[in-house]
Amino acid sequence: MKVDSSISAVVTGGASGLGEASARALAAKGAKVALFDLNVERGQQVASEIGGTFCQVDVSDEASVDAGFAAARAAHGQERVLVCCAGIGTIGKTVRRDKETGAISHMPVELFAKTLKVNLVGTFQCVAKAAAGMMTLDGLEDGERGAMVCTASVAAVDGQIGQVAYSASKGGVVGMTLPIARDFMSEGIRINTILPGIFNTPLLAGLPQNVQDVLAASVPFPKRLGKPEEYANLVLTMVENGYFNGETVRLDGAIRMPPR
Ligand code: NAD
Repeated sequence: MKVDSSISAVVTGGASGLGEASARALAAKGAKVALFDLNVERGQQVASEIGGTFCQVDVSDEASVDAGFAAARAAHGQERVLVCCAGIGTIGKTVRRDKETGAISHMPVELFAKTLKVNLVGTFQCVAKAAAGMMTLDGLEDGERGAMVCTASVAAVDGQIGQVAYSASKGGVVGMTLPIARDFMSEGIRINTILPGIFNTPLLAGLPQNVQDVLAASVPFPKRLGKPEEYANLVLTMVENGYFNGETVRLDGAIRMPPR
């Protein structure tokens, strides 16, 4: 699918980081882009800079997602492209023993469930709602009706201490990619998932500089954090290359996370 002014796109998490870069890349090729995000101020700012639309959406809330798609379609018509970047990072050991007091505590089940609700269920419901709309479109080359890109993480497969909830949520996104591609194979809708390594976004900016430096140095080559534009380039490739389907692809400078 060629991305140009005939294409409408929805980008979740589009107010910041990887979603923002993806939205900018799509808009730079002429696409009409709707951003779904919780961050109203930043979302409106990015939308106005790219000539797009901002919809305040909580991807973990079905009614909010429905309202977002309705608003996006009213503004730009039915989307042919969905990019799912909305997500949260959650840190916490499964069970933890306090070194000083010996007290044992476990990750609150609510926190585990919330992480799955945003990162996994949120992605699933955006995919399902977008696909339902894409099925109403005429097919393009090869009968293609739509293309979707989801965001997992290398944490889905390189489990780290304290990442049980995050890794489970991203592992779920990896796990659903191929079955969804197959679910949609007779509808001309493709789906692919990127597993980013460590990218320089506001999600990472909260870490102390020395931690960021260690992370950057741990990337085999190039020895730096990924740039959001490099992520957006792969999003564009996955959207435009019609033979990309059902794939889960690492984008990580060959990093393999050792246990910390
Ligand atoms: P970011 O914090 O810069 O952007 C995430 C955006 O998602 C924010 O604008 C936030 O408001 C939005 N968001 C959060 N919860 C939401 C919800 N319930 N509904 C709607 N919007 C919501 O982070 P980022 O680094 O750009 O991360 C984007 C995606 O990439 C996330 O899914 C993250 O887990 C994943 N990821 C990032 C990295 C990295 O190194 N930055 C690595 C691996 C995976």
